[in-house]
Formats: sequence, structure tokens, C-alpha cells
Amino acid sequence: MTDLKALIRDVPDFPKKGIIFKDITPLLKDAAAFRQAVKQIVEKYKGRKVDAVLGIEARGFIIGAAAAQELGVGFLPVRKPGKLPYETLSASYELEYGSDSLEIHKDALSKGDRILIVDDLLATGGTMAACCKLVESLGGEVVGIAFLIELGFLNGRDKLTGHEIFSLIDYE
Ligand code: AMP
Repeated sequence: MTDLKALIRDVPDFPKKGIIFKDITPLLKDAAAFRQAVKQIVEKYKGRKVDAVLGIEARGFIIGAAAAQELGVGFLPVRKPGKLPYETLSASYELEYGSDSLEIHKDALSKGDRILIVDDLLATGGTMAACCKLVESLGGEVVGIAFLIELGFLNGRDKLTGHEIFSLIDYE
């Protein structure tokens, strides 16, 4: 087993002064580590009914698409405003470094669909809370929320109460 935490690089003051950016590119570059991370993220969902994996632009696409392949289900992209070509539903959220909104295609999922949401990192939880809102507004059910990294000291879980949360690498 690879020590995944050793493959996360801290980049101070990116994209803004005071933020320590968790750079996952060394982990992605390592085939065995990337495979191990994806397998561990989806492990608990293998025997359960999941209709699709939803991933958030941009690093959530990388982990999410791989997770969808591993589970044998489709992938639903959530993107920054103006990027999705068809009719969209939008939700705004606060970020550790600013505020923004996210969009999903209105026909991305059907009522009752069971969705696993995947992102690279949980910071303050705003991004993920907005994603849950998008899924639920379209009548979907969030079966789980999974992250490669959790910045536990930011207490992002408090914004996601009522959901099953999993993170592979925690920073207390
Ligand atoms: P939040 O909404 O505060 O939980 O922020 C989570 C989103 O912002 C994720 O999609 C991350 O990719 C990104 N993010 C926030 N903080 C960091 C950080 N320190 N390092 C890398 N990505 C971050």
C-alpha cells in the first residue's frame, strides 16, 4: 500500500496569500497510488445501489470519473457557471477563498436516482453543500459524499449534516 499522504504537496499562498493549497498532482501521476485512492474511495459503495457518480469541476472530475468507472456507473458533471451547454439549475456557495456558484444539467438525473458525490477536498463544505442541494432539487438522493482529502480543522462536515461522509486522507 502506498502512503497517499506523502504524495500530497502543500503549496503555500496559492491561489491567495494564507491558503495552503493541497496539490494532488504527485498522487495522480503515480498510477498505483491513483488506483489505490479510487478503489478505497468507492469500496463501501460497491455492494450498494448507486445510479451515478457526480463530480465537481475541476479536480472532482478526475477522481469522480475514475470512481464512476470503478463502480460501473455513469458520471454527472457539476460545473462553474456558463460552462454547461444545455438547460441548467444553479446553486451558490461560499468557498475557502471566495464565493461562486455551481450548475448541473436539469436532465442530469431522474427523481429517485441514488447519487454518490465525489470531490478532491473538503474545506469549509460550501461546495459540497451546494452539490447536495442541486441533487436534491432534481429529486435525487445523495447516498454518500466522498473526498480524497478532508481539512478536518475547518469543520466542513457541519454543513453536511444528515449525509454519510467519507474521506481518505484527513488533516486534523
Ligand atoms: P469548500 O467549499 O470550502 O469545502 O472548498 C472545497 C473546494 O475548493 C474543493 O472543490 C477544492 O478543490 C477546493 N479547495 C478549497 N480549499 C483548498 C485547498 N486548501 N487546497 C486545494 N483545494 C482546495
